[in-house]
Formats: sequence, structure tokens, C-alpha cells
Amino acid sequence: MRFPQTFIDDLKRQADIVRIVQDYVTLKKTGANWSARCPFHKETKPSFSVNPSKEIFYCFGCQKGGSVFNFIMEIERVTFPEAIRIVAEKAGVALPKMVDNDRFEARRRDSDQVIELNQWALQWWQDQLQGKSASAVRDYLKQRGITDETSQTFKLGFAPDSWEALSTHLRQKGATQEQLEKSGLVVKKDEGGSYDRFRGRLIFPVFDAQGKPIAFGGRTLDPEGEPKYLNSPETPAYTKGRHLYGLNLTRDEIRRQEFAILVEGYLDLIVPYQFGVRNLVASLGTALTPEQVKLIGRFARKVVVNYDGDRAGVQAAKRAIETILAEDIEVKVLVLPDNADPDDFIRKNGVTEYQQRRGAAQPHIQFVIDQAVRDRNLHSPADKAAAVEETLPFVRAVRNRIQKREYFDIAMDSLRVQKDQRRELWQQTRGASTDAATVQNVFARRVKPTVAEEKLLGLLLASDELRNIVLPRLEPTDYDGLATAEIFKALTALSKEDKEISFDSLSEATAENSTAAEVLPRLLINETAESFDESLADANSCLDALRLMKLDREIEEIGAQIAEADRAGRNEERDSLAMKKLELSKQRSSFLPGRKPEN
Ligand SMILES: [Zn+2]
Repeated sequence: MRFPQTFIDDLKRQADIVRIVQDYVTLKKTGANWSARCPFHKETKPSFSVNPSKEIFYCFGCQKGGSVFNFIMEIERVTFPEAIRIVAEKAGVALPKMVDNDRFEARRRDSDQVIELNQWALQWWQDQLQGKSASAVRDYLKQRGITDETSQTFKLGFAPDSWEALSTHLRQKGATQEQLEKSGLVVKKDEGGSYDRFRGRLIFPVFDAQGKPIAFGGRTLDPEGEPKYLNSPETPAYTKGRHLYGLNLTRDEIRRQEFAILVEGYLDLIVPYQFGVRNLVASLGTALTPEQVKLIGRFARKVVVNYDGDRAGVQAAKRAIETILAEDIEVKVLVLPDNADPDDFIRKNGVTEYQQRRGAAQPHIQFVIDQAVRDRNLHSPADKAAAVEETLPFVRAVRNRIQKREYFDIAMDSLRVQKDQRRELWQQTRGASTDAATVQNVFARRVKPTVAEEKLLGLLLASDELRNIVLPRLEPTDYDGLATAEIFKALTALSKEDKEISFDSLSEATAENSTAAEVLPRLLINETAESFDESLADANSCLDALRLMKLDREIEEIGAQIAEADRAGRNEERDSLAMKKLELSKQRSSFLPGRKPEN
């Protein structure tokens, strides 16, 4: 009894060796490798290396090396089966039941047989693509701009519109009915027997990273045909969400370029490939899985997500970002104009334009922020809280602490979050988890009325005479954004219309505003004991205080905008903002004690 070999192979693939080794030594990236001072012998200069794509470690000092299992055996001093258990636990992979060799061998035989049948089918479909009946497919490929060479590279094929042409061919090659059914190439009939699954379709074979054909996708040629794309079911050779389309052809280029471009569909990969962009993989419609990200991670630690720009594509991209960040891989996002997919874009605009845009792809956080502020008004505290809430999970998902802080600052600047709120949000973000309620709390507390606004309102409510003098001088900008803005608004409106100012009239005018409901009784219950002159002086200084706070907020906000423009290299914008900030600072200094306030 032992662990099945397929499990050990899969585990090795899923357990990122860099992450496992990181638990014991601090690795630094050096080219394709990660290096550190060796944990197995004493040294001052690092001669210990880990190569994630080859899944091995090696020390040039003490010559120890091997797989992730050898590493654990050496450092934990355990046996091989024990090392497997430890690695599985660290990688979050469930251990299989110990299986006897016969069953394991049977599974592998099944898988090998499926691949052999796939091989035969693939060859036959490729031949059919050259035949007379395939002229419509060849026209379609020509119209999509796909050359013969490309179609051979990707081993595209044509499944004729027949119920049994492929089955007949496979039987002639020696396939049994049982093998046919296991392969997923046919569909079983209830009354016994089977028919070909792919009929009248352009065939895209899917290969594993080693280049074995494990599954197929077939595109219908009938404009009314349903579904547009038909895929292989799961078989002993194929588990959904474990593979990436194109990786067998692009893995070396991905390693060389040190990043992968992630696209959605077959043609999104094939067309750029034909034009010379060769570090791509396609996730093929289904949501990107952690296994797929780990697979990419063996070849590069950076991914540019290039999904469709429509709503569904944006949602899929956001899900992909979270999955990628969870595997400690850096993500950028490329959104092409007019919702174009990579296939369309390259055919219309050429590869140079594509590469330029790819070079300017946004860091994931900028993409997430753009989505979060879309259709929201950051001057509204509720909208701002919602945008922050939507953004923070993508900061929290970043594993590197320094990067996490950088992304946090970018998000806070872009969303114009004030300093005292930032401190609290950072406390929450660096920790494990935040639920939405706590983000809301941070912002809810912010909109509590200040002393100055409450005092001013109290004075205004207490005296008709004071209202007549002060209200005409009050600008909407004086109270916009304040917790009690609704009360100021109602007060101004009522008094303009010469209506009675009372608890009832104010409550009615501020209906559904919770701050007003809470504050109004408190304000109205107080009777002022001050003389008119004292009240007027107090009201004036309250108004000054409000204007001062507003200037402070504006200065802080411009500061954030300057930082943002500076980061994005928009120097002109940065300089003109700096001028504006200077002006505001001047205005502010006119409020300093000892000077008579303007206005
Ligand atoms: Zn060593």
C-alpha cells in the first residue's frame, strides 16, 4: 500500500515549492530562481536556490537538492510518506485513501487509453479539415485570418456532420465500445450503443502542459447552432479546471518573458500567437481555478489578465484577480477599448498597438478602483464607503506586506479617504478579515456632526433675528458634506419661503435623514441664554470654523490627487494641482488667529 503515483505527481504540481520552502527560509527572487542562505549548512553568501518551474531546489555549497518532498524529508527529518503528508497539509490538498497498486494502475491505463483514442481522433479530424466537405470551415478560418501554418500548429480539425464517421474510424483502429464511451468522444444512447459527440464542428484540441491531447472543444459552423462551443466531458484523462489552453506551446515563452497574458477563448490565444505574441494562456470560459493559477505560477510570477471589456468580462476578471493574488502572483489588467477581445483587437489594430497597450496595463488595484468608483459619487459618504468596501478585499488578498501597504495607499488616495479613517482601515486590512459592517462603521462615525455645525444650527434655530442676518451669508458649499447638511438645507429653504421654523416643519423637510432625526430634538430643546451680540459673534466664529475645516479637507484631498498624478507620471496635472494647493493654503492662512477672516 502506498500513495498513488498520480496523486504524488499532482501534489508536486499543486504544492508550489517556493511557498513551501518559504516556510523555513526567506527566499529572494534572482532571475528564474529564488535564492537564500542554505538551511542545511552554514554560509554567509546565499548558494541555496529554488527553481519553481522545474520544481526543484539545489545548494551549490553542500550539494543537497531535489524535489519539494526531498526538501521536507531533509529539513523535517521524516520519511517519504511523512513528507507527502506534510506537503499535502501545507498545500491544502486532501490526502487520498491509500490505494493498492492494481487500482492505481487501472486508472492510469484508463487515462492512457483515452489519450490514445484522442490522438487517433485528432489525427483523423486534422485529415478531414483538408477534405472537400470542409470547405466551409476553411472559409471560416480564412475569414478569421488564420493561416494554414497556425491551424497546423494548433492541430485544428474538422468533425464532419455525421453520427458515426469518427466512431467507425476509431473501431477500425481497434477501439472497443467501452473505450469509446470512456473517452467522451461519443454520447451513449439510452437504448444502447452511441453516436459521435462532435458533429459538423471546427475542432480545437486541448493539450496538457506536456502536449498530450486530453480534451476537445468544437465550434459549430451553423449560425443557429447550439451550443456555439461544445466541450469534452470529464474523463480519466481530463479534469475541468486543471489545465490551461495553449500552455504546451507557450510555456517556454512565458518563462522567458517572466509573465503570462491570460485570455478567455481559443481564438483570443490563437490569433495573437499567430501575430507573434506567444506568452499567453486561455482559461476557456470557466472561472479561473487555484489549480490553473498554480500551473501558471510554475512558469512566471506575473499575469496580465486580458478578458473582454463587457460587464461579464469585467466580473470574470475581478474573480480571476482574487484567485491569482491568493497564489501570491502579481496581477495587471489590460482592458482593450470598445470592449474588444484580443482576437478582434489585433486583427483590426495590429500587434504593435496591442503590445503598447499591454505594456501600459493597469496594476490590479487601479482596475479595481476604476470599477468601484464607476457610477458612484465620492462626495457622498455612503458611496465612498461602498467603493472602499468593494476595493479592500483586493488589497487584503495581496500576500506581500510591503506591496499590500503600497496598494492600500493607492486605494486610499484614489478614493479620497481621510487620514484618521485610513489608520483604522489599515488596521483592519493588514489583519485577516474585515466584514462589510466594520468598513461602514468607519465611515458612519465620520459623519457625526461636529461641535461647530451643531452650535451654529442651535443658534440659528433659537433666533429669527440671527437667521435673518446669517442665513443669507451661508453658501451651500459651507454645509455640503456635513452630517447636518440636510438640516441646513431645510432651514434655508423654509426661511426663503417664509415658512414657520419648528420641529414639525424641519422634521418633515428632512424626512428619512437619520442624523436629522437624531440631532433636531437636541438642538431645539436648548434655549440660548446669550445676548444677541454674543450669539452673532458665536455664529460667525462657528461659520469660520466650518470654512476652515472645509479648506483642510480640500487641501488633504488635493494632496492625495497630487500623489496620484505623480505616481501615474502625469507631471503637468501634478504641477497645476500643486499650484491649486498653494492657493488653498494661502486662503487658509488668512483664517489664522490674529487675522480678520475674509467674508
Ligand atoms: Zn547547503
